[in-house]
Amino acid sequence: MPHKIQTELYRELPSIDELLRSPDLALQVAQYGLRAVTEAGRAVIERLRREITEGKLDAAELGRELGRIAGIVTLELRQSFSFSLRPVINATGVVLHTNLGRSPLSSDALTHIRETAAGYSNLEFDLATGERGKRDVHVQRLFQSLLGRYVRPDSPISTVVVNNCAAAVMLALNTLAEGGEVVVSRGELVEIGGSFRVPEIMTKSGAVLREVGTTNRTRLSDYERAITERTRLLLRVHRSNFAIVGFTEQPSLEELAALGRRHKIPVMEDLGNGALFDLEEVGIKRESGVIQSLRANIDLVVYSGDKLMGGPQSGMITGGPEIVGRIRSNPLFRALRVDKLVYAALEATLLAYLRGDYDSIPALRMIRMPAQEIRRRAEKIAATIADLHQLTVDIMSDESVIGGGTAPTATLPTFVLAVSSSKLPAPELQRRLREQQFPVIARVEEDRVLFDLRTVFPEQDEALVASLRAIAGT
Ligand SMILES: *Cc1c(COP(=O)(O)O)cnc(C)c1O
Repeated sequence: MPHKIQTELYRELPSIDELLRSPDLALQVAQYGLRAVTEAGRAVIERLRREITEGKLDAAELGRELGRIAGIVTLELRQSFSFSLRPVINATGVVLHTNLGRSPLSSDALTHIRETAAGYSNLEFDLATGERGKRDVHVQRLFQSLLGRYVRPDSPISTVVVNNCAAAVMLALNTLAEGGEVVVSRGELVEIGGSFRVPEIMTKSGAVLREVGTTNRTRLSDYERAITERTRLLLRVHRSNFAIVGFTEQPSLEELAALGRRHKIPVMEDLGNGALFDLEEVGIKRESGVIQSLRANIDLVVYSGDKLMGGPQSGMITGGPEIVGRIRSNPLFRALRVDKLVYAALEATLLAYLRGDYDSIPALRMIRMPAQEIRRRAEKIAATIADLHQLTVDIMSDESVIGGGTAPTATLPTFVLAVSSSKLPAPELQRRLREQQFPVIARVEEDRVLFDLRTVFPEQDEALVASLRAIAGT
């Protein structure tokens, strides 16, 4: 009778106390604590009991499982105590890869986070007076020196920092236009990245969207005709992740700024990219940054900290002190403000710009990396894995992209390693690369896996080789 046999099998299962007495698990108790090991042990015993009930285990199979039960519990513990957020190697060539964490932080930023966040800091404390201070001051002066010298040298500019650019847009719209109308071109009612949609943000901010023009052409007169006593703001949304080409028209920022001034209505640009340097210089054409926006004399520009600025996730609102002051006094600001870690990273990143030390900022170093340097590294890797007979390796010219909803039409010339295996189809090779201890993220094109070393830190080249070796044999 099967039931009789099952009863006997149940009796084979150890009690949790017996299990904990095994020397292997004593080691785990030292590492993970008694409670965690007890829970993991119980879960494993419970699973075996269930498998007996379901008739999935016979006596021999149960014997094998019990022989290695300490190992099973240890594996379970290791999995539940491992980090979910892990470092990966980005071999996609997409510099600001939103799914891979956008911009990597500079070593100065990390050091500054460590030294200020491991203990107490003067985050909101004025060391000169011994009184309460504001957290904004830590970056305010740096934005002033970086941007102020290009624009309005006679009048200061102010910057507030919130959680990201989406929050910055929301906060600015809510402050300036709640209950009123915001005029936007139909060619700019866009969705950017992770479900940031201009019309939806507008609704949530309490402002009413007033669409003007058409998808491809909007004239200054379209804006002007839409202005009424209910109008609170003219909004320009930067086309961050797409381009409209062909029969198109859009007033310049300068023209929009002048129109706003004539009607005493503020003009804001949702710029996104946050570039604090000359984009042409690094080969990014037809794209403008924060300095150009402020030079156009608009009242406010909002932008991200972790796109072309290469800093931590954050959103900046820059403009004249009066209008930025109003935004700062909005109670929503308190809900969207950023943590000391972000100020520390931002401060270190901005100081690198002040020194002109672009290469210390990883995203900028990657964008500026010459294709020939990438080619040399690719050749070196190709030579190192030449003994792996399973693999065919080519070096081809290709293009890297900036990504992160930035500079949609700009590409950077690069060289990629194109690898195919005689044993594994490319998607399988790609999947195994993701399963490595240090996962490698690469793209597949025509049954080859492509590695663009522009976004791989040179010190990771060895780990990349090690992964290929582990997959394709030594
Ligand atoms: C990227 C982008 C945003 C969203 O920025 P986050 O920092 O990701 O919130 C908003 N507007 C524009 C124009 C952008 O390019």
